[in-house]
Amino acid sequence: MLVLGIETSCDETAVALVEDGTTVRSNVIGTQFEHHRPFGGVVPEIAARAHLDMMLPAIDRAFVEAGATYADVEGVAVTAGPGLVGALLVGVAAAKSIALAHDLPFIGVNHLEGHVCATQLEFGHLEPPMISLIVSGGHTSLVLLDAEGRFETIGQTIDDAAGEAFDKIARFMGLPFPGGPEIDKLGRTGDPTAIAFPRAMMNDGTLDFSMSGLKTAVIRELRRRDAVDEEIVMPDVAASFNEAIVDVLVTKTLRAAEAHDVGTITLVGGVAANSRLREAMADGCARTDRRLLLPQPVLCTDNGAMIAAAGYNRLVAGERSPLTIDADPGLPLIPLAG
Ligand code: ATP
Ligand code: MG
Ligand code: FE
Repeated sequence: MLVLGIETSCDETAVALVEDGTTVRSNVIGTQFEHHRPFGGVVPEIAARAHLDMMLPAIDRAFVEAGATYADVEGVAVTAGPGLVGALLVGVAAAKSIALAHDLPFIGVNHLEGHVCATQLEFGHLEPPMISLIVSGGHTSLVLLDAEGRFETIGQTIDDAAGEAFDKIARFMGLPFPGGPEIDKLGRTGDPTAIAFPRAMMNDGTLDFSMSGLKTAVIRELRRRDAVDEEIVMPDVAASFNEAIVDVLVTKTLRAAEAHDVGTITLVGGVAANSRLREAMADGCARTDRRLLLPQPVLCTDNGAMIAAAGYNRLVAGERSPLTIDADPGLPLIPLAG
């Protein structure tokens, strides 16, 4: 079953064609970095307008790259939320139009569920129970997929998302947007133990995260050193900051797996590209005898293939969305049908 997947929740105009929920036939990702770079972050209005310009060419390219036509498509899946409402609307309108014009089954997908399902594009159909750490510019969430197929958010950030913290600190350090990859790269040459940045909420008994205190601590330390003319070694700052975030993310993910007695962990979202996070999570899983599924970075960041995969799971279960659904910036996770 070939499913068309469309994703426009943030700053990627992404369209993909996926066979049977696992085989990527095409995965077109139009990034808007250049549109947002002057502002140091994603500007919602600019994102929505860029999606409008990029949507139809992205759809055309997805078909060309897959060597497919509309006649081959058996379902249309789109991110219905959560995300930026103006951005979501572009994808939802495009997907509904295609479904209507070609009389195809249509399904609205939760963006976080999409991130979780990115795993099946590389490792085959999901085998619950599993816990996914979703870390991106907009999300820091621990999502449990239980043995009955229920998705549940069991932990999340109470303030900034991990990627947001990377981007804000990078901006403060004078690094270009998006800052995550820059800090990752810079930090590889630095000493992660040089500065002891705080590990917020590490032992508070919840599975939630807080990133804003760390951000403030980095800014305060840089200002303090600057004021007393103390040397600032940027690679050390980057490495120490990266280590503090990774430490909390890995510790809480392993704790979640233990609390829910889950043996499989997946790491997805843009920040999953972080080299130190990949390494530390792999170490932690090996130490605790857990299986780590780590999709390649192109499947971890926002893409249409993960939405097609999530949509496939629901379409084969007989689920459909009416063509009257709206983009919902606060869309909750809902259990799989059945
Ligand atoms: P959403 O939150 O809806 O998924 P998004 O566009 O913010 O949307 P992604 O595209 O998945 O999310 O990820 C982008 C984020 O990932 C940015 O914050 C970026 O800095 C961060 N990122 C990318 N590569 C790395 C890396 N190597 N290390 C740390 N952060 C990274
Ligand atoms: Mg993005
Ligand atoms: Fe995302």
